[in-house]
Amino acid sequence: MNDDVVLVAENVHAGYGPVPVVAAVDLRVSRGEILAVVGANGAGKTTLLSALSGLLPLAEGRLIVDGVPVRKAGPNQLIELGVALVPEGRRLFNGLTVDEHLRMGLWKQRLSRRVAAERRDRVTELFPILHERRSSPAEVLSGGEQQMLAIGLALMRAPRLLMLDEPSIGLAPVIIDRVFDVLASLRAEGQAIIIVEQRVQKVLERADRAAVLQNGRVVVTGLAAALVDDPRLRAAYLGTK
Ligand code: ATP
Repeated sequence: MNDDVVLVAENVHAGYGPVPVVAAVDLRVSRGEILAVVGANGAGKTTLLSALSGLLPLAEGRLIVDGVPVRKAGPNQLIELGVALVPEGRRLFNGLTVDEHLRMGLWKQRLSRRVAAERRDRVTELFPILHERRSSPAEVLSGGEQQMLAIGLALMRAPRLLMLDEPSIGLAPVIIDRVFDVLASLRAEGQAIIIVEQRVQKVLERADRAAVLQNGRVVVTGLAAALVDDPRLRAAYLGTK
């Protein structure tokens, strides 16, 4: 296997209790690559990310994270293996400041002060506003700042794989571009990234490869640029075969 492959999902099935939602999903993402996962509302995108991050158990299949096969693992184990999820809706903590959130990202990592400070410096270099607003509680931040903080928190773990669920939700176009620019610079440094997005055109412009989910199954994978005009993409949104 190519050493640059960070995550492989093989035949992943997952759902809620007895209700299957995603089925037979095969995916892979490598260092320095952005994989977009697109599909209509309810196609199973969030469910897939939950399965890839250990929030939902795999009913079938397995993950291989950095060469380590994973069949049954919870979120803590996947975080330790280097998989970080920025959830839909950011899920920040009211009452905690920006700095406190970033420190929370260091939880259980046993880093030296120097490395911890380097991580924080890196995050605030990417998102200078987080340094400016370091003492502000998360709830007073704008939507864009909150999204940057949610990404910053994930980056404090220096993840092997960064996964984002609908990072553009509720953000002005100029802020969306800013967030995507940061993801592009992370990618250029070798970060592996999976993005689930409703803004299909935007994410296909920025991604290397894309997977189209329809009714919980991957119906097309390919180069993102080539998918823009693929009739199967349109069909997945219209719910036609
Ligand atoms: P959206 O873009 O609307 O978020 P999605 O592609 O992310 O859609 P999911 O949120 O993964 O889709 O939902 C896929 C299916 O799973 C839907 O039919 C949904 O009703 C169902 N579902 C989602 N969450 C749960 C849950 N907690 N319990 C039971 N069913 C759920």
